Formats: sequence, structure tokens, C-alpha cells
Amino acid sequence: MKNIFDILNPRDCCGCGACVNSCPTGALSYSMDEYGFYRPQIDNSKCISCGKCSRTCPECNDLPINQPLDVYAAINKDFAVLTRSASGGIFYALAESVIAEGGCVFGAMLDGQFQVKHICVEKIENLPLLQKSKYVQSFIGNSYKIALDKLKNGQKVLFSGTPCQVAAMKSFARESCENLILVEVVCHGIPSQKMFNDYVKNLEKENGTLKEYIFCYKRKILNGMNKFLFYRTERIKHVKNWPQDSYHTFFMESKNYQECCYTCKFARAKRVADLTLCDYWSWENYHRSDFSIGSTVSGICVNTVQGKTALEKILPKLNIAKSSFESLSRHNGCLIMPTTRPLLRNSFMDEWLSKGYPFIENRYKKDSRFRILRSHLLMLLPENLKIWVHGLRHGN
Ligand SMILES: Cc1cc2nc3c(=O)[nH]c(=O)nc-3n(C[C@H](O)[C@H](O)[C@H](O)COP(=O)(O)OP(=O)(O)OC[C@H]3O[C@@H](n4cnc5c(N)ncnc54)[C@H](O)[C@@H]3O)c2cc1C
Ligand code: SF4
Ligand code: SF4
Ligand code: SF4
Repeated sequence: MKNIFDILNPRDCCGCGACVNSCPTGALSYSMDEYGFYRPQIDNSKCISCGKCSRTCPECNDLPINQPLDVYAAINKDFAVLTRSASGGIFYALAESVIAEGGCVFGAMLDGQFQVKHICVEKIENLPLLQKSKYVQSFIGNSYKIALDKLKNGQKVLFSGTPCQVAAMKSFARESCENLILVEVVCHGIPSQKMFNDYVKNLEKENGTLKEYIFCYKRKILNGMNKFLFYRTERIKHVKNWPQDSYHTFFMESKNYQECCYTCKFARAKRVADLTLCDYWSWENYHRSDFSIGSTVSGICVNTVQGKTALEKILPKLNIAKSSFESLSRHNGCLIMPTTRPLLRNSFMDEWLSKGYPFIENRYKKDSRFRILRSHLLMLLPENLKIWVHGLRHGN
């Protein structure tokens, strides 16, 4: 049978690592491509052509997908949980409930060397490691294998990650899904660890050694909370709005994703995961009476009966209102289709490789001046006016 290198165009690889986890002989291991995205590599002398890698790859195989059964707008009632979350703190409530039942939770953390990787958490006090978005491709390692061992031992497992990682977990577990809850975050694309490392190096050159970095730092402003970028070095402490930072600007402008994100097969209404979590942008247009002004409300798509059961268990922890897929997806394109590839994406990535991070920071920062000004002006507006401007921009 054919191995994964015989059938998958490298452009379509999302680096999920399902093939590496499935190989029985150790012929597959991880490497990075030139841009620093995780990719499998093969030692042909160890390959026995069993085809397990090709049968497990979520990019080569079609998995069962489901149209959302129900859609909700929701927010965690616990203010401390909300502050530690990127959005409405729904992930924490789900994870806490699974651990309380003796289960474990897989998700992405940022370690002390500023590397993003998947880990397994079995204690509630360690859950904050997995909270908040990290805008870097997460290294999966042997997570699917470890999760499957736990499932086979009868333990409940919540596996969370990007939709491609969640699809990889489902494909790897095959029929052992009875105790598995798959929770995906809506994802518009992912930059590489290599680009993040370069950005950190650049930041350290100007400010001294990096001590702490938070991609989605929530701070109270006026009547509500807003997301910022926070970092602390040995010399300075910075709280920035995203257009003030090169890495976050490149991420928001979709310039630095891996190739397959622009044709992502998981960015569609029908989903592999049991539950899909996202930001409910413009919730004010549909749920103004359900939440207080300035709340960071999440959207939840319940795609399976297993997802419905998991959500029912955490209802007492949430303020929740029934919503519709149409309202939620109207302001969240990646629930329906992949991110559009910017025309400059290739030259941007190639200039980074050939000329270095400081070069692209200077060359492309100019494009963001208008956004910086606009975000400062928006911050100064009273909340009601902000909602009106938001409505105008989204055609409401
Ligand atoms: C790369 C990325 C892109 C995103 N793009 C969108 C978007 O376009 N639209 C949208 O509505 N929401 C997007 N989100 C998701 C959103 O910001 C929230 O994370 C989500 O709504 C869950 O919020 P929460 O408050 O319930 O949980 P939080 O505590 O904020 O999130 C924790 C969850 O995020 C997962 N996670 C964090 N970083 C990574 C990573 N690098 N790789 C895999 N999993 C990760 C953790 O495993 C955990 O499951 C994105 C998240 C990421 C990581
Ligand atoms: S041994 Fe099997 S799983 Fe491993 S690379 Fe070869 S075909 Fe793929
Ligand atoms: S399983 Fe994942 S990492 Fe392996 S080839 Fe397929 S997409 Fe790439
Ligand atoms: S956009 Fe799609 S392929 Fe890219 S990281 Fe997100 S889920 Fe994976």
C-alpha cells in the first residue's frame, strides 16, 4: 500500500501529525518545512508500505461531518475565568467538567521557551495553561497516541485544537470515540513557530529578554473588556492593540499562514467536532438584551448529540441564549469558507526568509498606519456609538 508521500501533495499538508502517530515502524517523524511549519519526514528503509498513514491523514480522507444541531451565544458567569480566556470562557467550563468526572483534557499551551505545543491536563489547577489563543501552529507530538491509550483505558478525553487537529484525532481514534469529546476553535489560519521565534528575537533585540507573552490579554475598558497583546521583557512591559504589533498585524491580515489554510477543507458549515467554539462578533446586533454591553461573547455550534450532552452539563456555569447559524456566521467567515489568500502572501513569506524579520517588519508596517489610527479612534468612542459604527461596517 502507498505511504502518505505517494498520495498527498505537500501543499495540502496541515502538519497535524496524524500520520506520524499512526506509523507502526517509526518510519515517520516530524520535521519543519522551509517556513517552519511542522511536516512529516520519512525514513524509507523503515517503511513497510502498510498504508496506515494514508488511511489516517484527515486531508486525504473524508470524515463524518455534521451540520450544527443548535447554535448559542454564551459567556461564562465567572469573571476570573472570562479574564483568563480569549473569548467567552466556554472551553474552560467544558474542560473543568470533564476533569471533574475523572477525565483529561488535551489542548495547546505556550511553554517557558515560547514554543506552542499540545499537552494533556488532568488537574483543574493546570487548565489555565490551555486557556487563551496562541497564534502559532501547535506541535502535536504523540498526543493522539496518548489520548487513544487513555480512551482504551476507559478514561474520558476532551481533545481541543484547530479543526484540522480535531479531525486528525477523530480519524486516529476511529471507532474508539465513545468517551471522546472533540472541541474545536474556529480557525482562520496559523503562522509557524519559526516566524514567531524570529519575531521574539527581534523584540528581544530592542527590549531585552522576553519574560512573559500573552496573545489575547483582556483588559477592562470603559464598559467592557477588550483584547490586547501583552508582553514583559527584562526592561519593559507593553500592552498593545493588535495593529501596533507587526506579528499580530501579519496574522490578522492573513499574510503568514501555511499554504493549506487558504483552501482549508474544515472551514465549512458542516463540522467534524462535537462542539465548535468561536468569537460571537457583532452579538450586539442579535442579543443586546441577553448580555451586558462590552461582553466578550462566544458562539457555540453544537454539532452532535455528544456535544449536546457535554454542553448540558455546563449550563449552570453559563449565561446562554439560543442563536442561529446564520447570525453567527454572518460575521465569522471561517465558519463557512477558508480565508482568502492575500496577493502578497508569497512575496511576504519569501522576503522574510531571504531578508529577515526586521526587513518585513519595516516593509509591511506602513500598511497598518491607517488601522492603528482607526483602532485608537474607535477606542475613544462611547459604547453605543461603537456599536453603531460596528453595525455600519458589517452592513446592519
Ligand atoms: C489560531 C487561532 C485562530 C482563531 N481564529 C478564530 C476566528 O477566525 N474566528 C473566531 O471566532 N475564533 C477564532 N479563534 C478562536 C477564539 O479566539 C477562541 O479561542 C475560542 O472562541 C474559544 O474561546 P474560549 O474563551 O471558550 O476558550 P479559550 O480559553 O480562549 O481557548 C482555549 C482553547 O484554544 C485552544 N488553542 C489555543 N491556541 C491554540 C493553537 N495554537 N492551536 C490549537 N488550539 C489552540 C486550546 O487548546 C483551547 O481549546 C482562533 C483561535 C486560534 C488558536
Ligand atoms: S510504515 Fe506504514 S504508516 Fe509508516 S510510513 Fe510506511 S506506509 Fe506509512
Ligand atoms: S496526516 Fe497530517 S501531517 Fe500527516 S500528511 Fe496528512 S495532513 Fe500532513
Ligand atoms: S485554517 Fe484549517 S488547515 Fe489551517 S490550521 Fe486552521 S484548521 Fe488547520
